[in-house]
Amino acid sequence: MSGDKKVVLVTGGSGLVGHAIQTVIQKEERDDEDWIFVGSKDADLSDCAQTKALFNKYHPTHVIHLAAMVGGLFHNMSHNLDFLRKNIHINDSVLQTSFETGVVKVVSCLSTCIFPDKTTYPIDETMIHLGPPHPSNFGYSYAKRLVDISNRAYYEQHGCLFTSVIPCNVFGPHDNFSLQSSHVIPALIRKLHDAMERGMLSGSPEETVFTVLGTGCPLRQFIYSLDLAKLIVWVLREYNSVDPIILSVDEKDEVSIRTVAENIAQAFDFQGEIHYDSTHADGQFKKTASNAKLRSLIPHFQFTPFEQAVKDTVQWFKQNCHIARKN
Ligand code: NAP
Ligand code: GDP
Repeated sequence: MSGDKKVVLVTGGSGLVGHAIQTVIQKEERDDEDWIFVGSKDADLSDCAQTKALFNKYHPTHVIHLAAMVGGLFHNMSHNLDFLRKNIHINDSVLQTSFETGVVKVVSCLSTCIFPDKTTYPIDETMIHLGPPHPSNFGYSYAKRLVDISNRAYYEQHGCLFTSVIPCNVFGPHDNFSLQSSHVIPALIRKLHDAMERGMLSGSPEETVFTVLGTGCPLRQFIYSLDLAKLIVWVLREYNSVDPIILSVDEKDEVSIRTVAENIAQAFDFQGEIHYDSTHADGQFKKTASNAKLRSLIPHFQFTPFEQAVKDTVQWFKQNCHIARKN
């Protein structure tokens, strides 16, 4: 380390959360940190040799580990094996290389969707391993749960400060807007945008139908990517425990998928019909998580109101449709 300067490597730096951290960091002036953001073009982190070469190039002292195979309900349902293997390989390679190269601290990313399916609510940080996850995403869930197990083992055997954060469902600018693999908010934004464009082209916009998959009844907590980015940077600087910490909006801010669809329709000023296609899966009914631990450490953190964050994301997508990830 040159002086006390931190060199922070962000894996997954080209993704939704990685871009948001870049935005947050760019707004600050700090002389004691250098930030490096890398994507899969810089190294395939499921490959140990490429991971080592990347770490030998940048010599990070701190790592925010976001890189992962990530996807929404339907992509998880059809690719459980890929989610399991890819994420196990990436996580093992990043944590072991961090250990071997003397990285001081690693902050990895779990998710509230890895908690047990049959559980009491609200979910908290102590409950990760208390039963099988929802069958729709067991591959992703077990791979992510192993990060928490690894963090504890690196601490016990070597004293490493490898920790993890547990975000709820994330959305914002630079999300993956693919119709096949994305999470619900970017999928619905893309779908409505495309349907409205088709309606305008055909000259009958009033006949446009906005199709939402499932019943619209499931409940979710959603965090705006820029809020999550601020919290992850805070964890990197201030939170020094191996135990994970949930980074989520309050329980009272949980919303139904129906409310999500209505907010997106409003942001587009869409007046047509919203259709719920209940032949598709709903996934886990709810995953309500408690942010009491977070609130006890930073009680006054202000989350962006959901409606505003949806409007800003829709605005971003309209302006950046040509560069947005859609595959
Ligand atoms: P994302 O937008 O899909 O970005 C994934 C990132 O991982 C990209 O930068 C991608 O690089 C990189 N990546 C994927 N495979 C890689 C590989 N083999 N080698 C190197 N880099 C690889 O994901 P995100 O939504 O920002 O998610 C960030 C973290 O938050 C993940 O750990 C995810 O599990 C967690 N999380 C996400 C959500 C959510 O709702 N999105 C919720 C809870 C937790 P390229 O783009 O350059 O290929
Ligand atoms: P989850 O929060 O981990 O379950 O993942 P998602 O972000 O994919 O949200 C899934 C929920 O949104 C389920 O209840 C789906 O039925 C519902 N949903 C409605 N329409 C869509 C869609 O077009 N794509 C996705 N991914 N989910 C949708």
